[in-house]
Amino acid sequence: MKTIRDIDFTHSTVIVRVDMNVPMNSEGEITSESRILSAVPTLNYLLAQNAKLVVITHIGRPKNHEEVLKTDKIAQRLGQILGPSIPVEKADEIVGESVAEKLKSMPYRSVLVLENIRFNKGETKGDDALSREIASLGDYFVNDAFSCCHRNHASITGIPKYLPTYAGFQMEKEINELTQLNNTPDRPFVLLQGGAKVSSKLGLLKILVHKVDKMLIGGGMSFTFLKAMGYNVGKSLLEEDKLEMAKSIIELAKETGTKLLLPRDFLVTDNIQNPSILKIVSIQDFPDDLIGVDIGPSTIAMFKQDIKNAKTVLFNGPMGIFEYRPFERGTRELYTFAGDLNDVYKVAAGGDTAAAIEHFGVDNYFSYISMGGGATLAYIEGKPLPGIQQIME
Ligand code: ADP
Ligand code: MG
Repeated sequence: MKTIRDIDFTHSTVIVRVDMNVPMNSEGEITSESRILSAVPTLNYLLAQNAKLVVITHIGRPKNHEEVLKTDKIAQRLGQILGPSIPVEKADEIVGESVAEKLKSMPYRSVLVLENIRFNKGETKGDDALSREIASLGDYFVNDAFSCCHRNHASITGIPKYLPTYAGFQMEKEINELTQLNNTPDRPFVLLQGGAKVSSKLGLLKILVHKVDKMLIGGGMSFTFLKAMGYNVGKSLLEEDKLEMAKSIIELAKETGTKLLLPRDFLVTDNIQNPSILKIVSIQDFPDDLIGVDIGPSTIAMFKQDIKNAKTVLFNGPMGIFEYRPFERGTRELYTFAGDLNDVYKVAAGGDTAAAIEHFGVDNYFSYISMGGGATLAYIEGKPLPGIQQIME
């Protein structure tokens, strides 16, 4: 892997692609800044070599130049984090004369944050002219946005065609952690799989069934598995068209000797937004008219045991609809329980999983929380990530 340790950036201009796509509330205030903080080691390292940085990020999925999706707040916060000795400016454009002029006027050891890269329609199209124009601003390209590397976007796979390209520290860390997880995990290796749908995790499950020793399946997707085994799941989330897939994964688990465990009991309700019934039922007597919203206490106890006996645990997808307080218990209990185990290597992947871990305040107790989302899942599935190709050469 080519990383920023490989060369000297003294008095050069470096284009740095980061992922500062932070969650924001309706007022446009940043609600979690972990994505900003994750890029800071790379920025500080380059700044310490008196480089001039052009920082690129996207925020959200803008249709137009939406005011709340501008990078102003990010530039402001980054300025505070980097401290008063580092000038941080915000460009109101992505490319063009005004950006080039502004950059020229800035000293070495400073940062220019470009406008939201997705305001330019060429970004997601992988437009070559856009890549070339951005590249013309600098001497080197540093990619620290692992989470975007499954995309053929102009600022991910385009710029490396025009500039020598290196991995930043966050990128390096993601690749190293995930490679270790893929190739040489300490065993027993247990997967705690939850989340909403089987369909979004099929590729992952098909690969992981060969790699892990045990799969613990909770969350919304467990209902499709349970239904496939003949259980009634009431009005719970169900993907009728994935029943055969679920069966085939159960079969694969048998063939490979991977233990596959499903919930024995659930918290059920009549209405997610406005629950008047909340009770624990066993899977054998699931009521026809109720919805499963969290795993039950007996399942929590069973999963805890398997997590405790593991050497490596991969967490992907919450156990229930944790966004609603009455339904958060399964996810909270398992994540905090895991957080307390010192002998278990705990890796988390997935946007909602990371949000849940942060929400429960146990982020410091996990060994590694991947920021990658879709890119992480693709990497674990063994799919090539176009954005890391030039770095791995
Ligand atoms: P990640 O982003 O970590 O990969 P997913 O996107 O797959 O996770 O799943 C997260 C979503 O799964 C959450 O929004 C959560 O509400 C939902 N979910 C979990 N359990 C259930 C359930 N029993 N019924 C419906 N949705 C569920
Ligand atoms: Mg998600």
